[in-house]
Amino acid sequence: MRIAVGGIHTECSTYSPVLMQPEDFRVVRGDELPASPHFDFLKAFDADFVPLVHARAVAGGPLARSTYDLFKAEFLDRLDAAQPVDAVYLAMHGAMHVDGMWDAEGDWIAAVREAVGPDMLIACSYDLHGNVSQKIVDQIDIFAAYRTAPHIDIAETMTASVEMLTRALKDGTRPGVVRVPVPHLLPGERSSTEDEPARRLYADLPKLESDDVWRTDLMIGYVWADEPRATACAVVTGTDKKAATRAGERIAQDFWDARDDFRFGPTTGPLDEMLDIAAKATTGPVILADSGDNPTGGGVGDRGDVLAALIAAGWQDALVAGITDRAAVEQCFAAGEGATLALKIGGTLDPAGVTVETTARVVTLLDDTDPAERQTVVRIDGITLVLAARRRPYHNISDFEILGLDPAAVSLLVVKSGYLSPELAPLADPSLMALTDGVINQDIPRLPNRLRAKGTLPFEDRAHYTPKAEVSARFTG
Ligand SMILES: [Zn+2]
Repeated sequence: MRIAVGGIHTECSTYSPVLMQPEDFRVVRGDELPASPHFDFLKAFDADFVPLVHARAVAGGPLARSTYDLFKAEFLDRLDAAQPVDAVYLAMHGAMHVDGMWDAEGDWIAAVREAVGPDMLIACSYDLHGNVSQKIVDQIDIFAAYRTAPHIDIAETMTASVEMLTRALKDGTRPGVVRVPVPHLLPGERSSTEDEPARRLYADLPKLESDDVWRTDLMIGYVWADEPRATACAVVTGTDKKAATRAGERIAQDFWDARDDFRFGPTTGPLDEMLDIAAKATTGPVILADSGDNPTGGGVGDRGDVLAALIAAGWQDALVAGITDRAAVEQCFAAGEGATLALKIGGTLDPAGVTVETTARVVTLLDDTDPAERQTVVRIDGITLVLAARRRPYHNISDFEILGLDPAAVSLLVVKSGYLSPELAPLADPSLMALTDGVINQDIPRLPNRLRAKGTLPFEDRAHYTPKAEVSARFTG
């Protein structure tokens, strides 16, 4: 069994003006791929994996067309060189948007299908925030998506996809995929699987699996993509068309029936209200999520709104992690640790962002051979601020430790985040989410909507829905 492995994994807000360039991606190619932690799960399989190339970026704006063309050409070249193979496994996210293209994964996967011909099995794994089009399911044979948000089942999902693939290769069965669109788009922040009704809907998925129904998935989709394919949907892999259709329509109907029950998990509201609650809190650390500028959801990560509000209020003992501003980081490196300097912070990538002009003292410089990886910690009166040269989140404890910071020891921690990460969530006492501005604004009904399918909630009113399965053109079972 020779299985080609690779893909491209990112999530793109079509509202972001910041186009992704090749250097925004972490790329593993050839032998680097199986050696990377993301693909560690492959070791458990008795198969001969042929690593191609995998490119992965923090969520952000659309890919520049040249960025996409570069990675696609490399993938197809390596696939060509890897032949003969018995199957292809694609590790995707599913919400990639390429400047001027409406279905980027559809284009990528169709190109793979064209390269390998009609008989070869193609398996995919996706993030549940991907937008799955009919063009995509018409090219593939096997699909699996995360069932948790925050995503704590990444390796399990990738394993599930490859398990189905090796099973089909071993016994010669030809699985197929069914998709059932549901015209309802939600932000991830209102569909965390830690909270109802998503917790229950996802817990029910495995109960619909059987000998004929190999895998059942519910795709929340990606709401900040104004593109025709944007939709929630059920996706089912099986060997029996009728059974897979039944399971998919059931998942779709259950999701539709729960449509009015999705809520934000933490206490959520406008920034000023959340800061009032934080100021009165007698417990700590208060963790405040700056949700409109969360880089892991596609936000730019360079906005200074919350920092400006904290400075205006004279906040003491607050930690803001972080703001992306390469120019400010370079100024701090030029000034040196201990120096005090005037800084203009924020709004360097998205001109619509908020800029803060202030005086800061450089506390820590974290150098790197790559200037894009540099970070610095500065003090602005009672506020400690992390500045990063590149777009990135501060969602893991190690992100703080490496800078000599303890996120549990401050009274207020501000992170650019939606629902908190699995490492930060247990620290928060309380957890607050501010509905801030940015390219992933949570005020969904007011997002500009030109291209999404007619009758999609909450952009248009809709009272009735009947699930209707669309069977992959390849599904013969
Ligand atoms: Zn996701």
